[in-house]
Amino acid sequence: MGQIPRLGGEMLKKEAFGVQADMTIDTHAHLEMEAFEGDREAVLKRAAEAGIAAIITVGTTIPDCEKAVALARSYRSVYAAVGIHPHDAKGMDDSTCDRLRALAREDKVVAIGEIGLDFFYNLSPREVQIRRFEEQLDLAEELELPVIIHNREAHAETLRVLRPRKGRLRGVLHCFSGDLAMAGECLALGFHLSVAGPLTYPKAGRLRDVARIIPLDRLLIETDAPYLAPQAYRGKRNEPSYVVETARRLAEIRGLPFEDLARLTSANARRLFNLDGKDDDDVRVAGKAAGG
Ligand SMILES: [Zn+2]
Ligand SMILES: [Zn+2]
Repeated sequence: MGQIPRLGGEMLKKEAFGVQADMTIDTHAHLEMEAFEGDREAVLKRAAEAGIAAIITVGTTIPDCEKAVALARSYRSVYAAVGIHPHDAKGMDDSTCDRLRALAREDKVVAIGEIGLDFFYNLSPREVQIRRFEEQLDLAEELELPVIIHNREAHAETLRVLRPRKGRLRGVLHCFSGDLAMAGECLALGFHLSVAGPLTYPKAGRLRDVARIIPLDRLLIETDAPYLAPQAYRGKRNEPSYVVETARRLAEIRGLPFEDLARLTSANARRLFNLDGKDDDDVRVAGKAAGG
């Protein structure tokens, strides 16, 4: 401890950096994915060293949701979300939501996600994506869990689905990619907005404009690791410790000290996902072997 990784992996003393990063939370990563199969322990260790207090690992398929739940059981700092990604909506059948319902009742499952619409890749037919998104939103309402929503190139349709549920759902638009108008409408519907690595990209001016206006009590940060590494690591595999890069940039944009930004966004994450109510003293601490 006492050090956080900086640009290019260079290590600087935290004191020299003038920050206290112990409060940072990565609200969206995919630790269960194949990309972390070889060195998950090291990734979690680096996250702890970078001051990441908690990581929500977000399932996208039933097997990955099962892995996410197992990781949450094995590591104190890891929490799980369970849901079927729009890419995989076409593989859902009428039993899938029953399986998700059972998984959602496991310890340290804090949300239904990631679910939503992806009209960029269209890996599932659009009407199937919409139907399965609605079903999983129903499940979240039934279980009174927040949702983690993926939306790519489907802004109007996402809003059309969410609007009638106003007041019944809470959650986050993860890796927010909409414009100011969409941000305003999502906020009016009660949602949080989460900012990921693209905030640090030179051409992301529009996203930085959105990041400037998100109320400080609705703002979250994430990596979406292994995807979307921040600029300093662009092209490499992303990992939770790199969320510090996004937090630093966001603090600059908001004109806040890093530690205040980290504390605020972490408090938002703890409140939205009820992390403190989900802690389990019996789970083993990070650094011990998973899968036991
Ligand atoms: Zn996503
Ligand atoms: Zn994701």
